[in-house]
Amino acid sequence: MEKYIEKFKSLKTPFYWYDMELLEETLAKVKQESDKYNFHVHYAIKANANLPILEKMVLHGFGSDCVSGNEITRSLEAGFKNNDIVFAGVGKSDEEICIGLENDIFCFNVESLPELEVINELASKLGKLAKIALRINPNVNASTHHYITTGLEENKFGINMWEMEDVLLALDKCKAINLIGLHFHIGSQIMDLLSFKGLCLRVNEIQEWFFARQIIVDHINVGGGLGIDYVHPDENSMPDFKSYFKLFHDFLEVRPKQKVHFELGRALVGQCGSLITKVLYVKNGVKTNFAIVDAGMTELIRPALYQATHTIENLTSKGCSKKYDVVGPICESSDCFGKALILPETKRGDILALRSTGAYGEVMASSYNLRSIALAHYSK
Ligand SMILES: *Cc1c(COP(=O)(O)O)cnc(C)c1O
Repeated sequence: MEKYIEKFKSLKTPFYWYDMELLEETLAKVKQESDKYNFHVHYAIKANANLPILEKMVLHGFGSDCVSGNEITRSLEAGFKNNDIVFAGVGKSDEEICIGLENDIFCFNVESLPELEVINELASKLGKLAKIALRINPNVNASTHHYITTGLEENKFGINMWEMEDVLLALDKCKAINLIGLHFHIGSQIMDLLSFKGLCLRVNEIQEWFFARQIIVDHINVGGGLGIDYVHPDENSMPDFKSYFKLFHDFLEVRPKQKVHFELGRALVGQCGSLITKVLYVKNGVKTNFAIVDAGMTELIRPALYQATHTIENLTSKGCSKKYDVVGPICESSDCFGKALILPETKRGDILALRSTGAYGEVMASSYNLRSIALAHYSK
């Protein structure tokens, strides 16, 4: 990032910076490793919905994974094909379902019995046949932060297996619905690949359950959740995609002609983004010092929302090390990016980079305290 410091000094802070070369490299690697097994990857656009980033996804042949009607519209604007769009979410509104139906998207990932009935009703009104996958709660523990685990029975997501007989009975009556897939997603920021092995084994059991009832679907969607290294963003600028896809190849029992779909968000874009911020004031304290920066939880809420930590670098100081709490200007005590961090001596005007903020950073920005929304800049 050194080579961009002069540019950073000339731009209004705070802003998001995207390393488009790293993004390219990451996407090329994902494509290479997933193509080995004929796997199809959708990009979970809720991680980062900026058009230049979406356009790169389209160029690499990925589909999109949406969780709102506006994300479907944004996907189409960015150039994703309608038949490459999947739509998940526990609370799809009637209006959002109609956006999906009118655009003939590839698949609705259905999360409950009442949702199934509403999609059927709306589809028959519009004279459409809705393609759906059942989002099944596999009851697999993803060993990640409890706010971002989604695959346990106590989570609000998906349909539990004990409800499935009722769902199949309902499906028989839903004439405007075509069941084409089974969908799973166990959580986010999963660093232990063994969690995904657990998912594969559970999916195999669930497929047997359906097979015993003469049901074989066209595709299995195993969701996303592959994590990134927030502590060593330079050493591990990319997750181990090779082992990740190989694991699914090795452990998932796929039926003849059945396709496997993935929905990756963070793993594709997380490392390519940094939040660049300027130091406004340094306050010397008793136990620690405070570096007060011009970015806050309005630009990056992950630390306040789920105790996430981002590597913080001072790009403009080479002084000797001191201890700092790096905090934002927002009137909330949780508006803190890191406590007792060792940084080179920091002064007003220094430029700091909060690394690995390409996913769930800019998209979660708010205008709390009536703050302006930060801009995005790209390395090319
Ligand atoms: C958020 C989400 C994803 C992507 O999760 P990542 O951890 O960013 O890979 C995939 N599928 C569904 C259904 C999601 O809600």
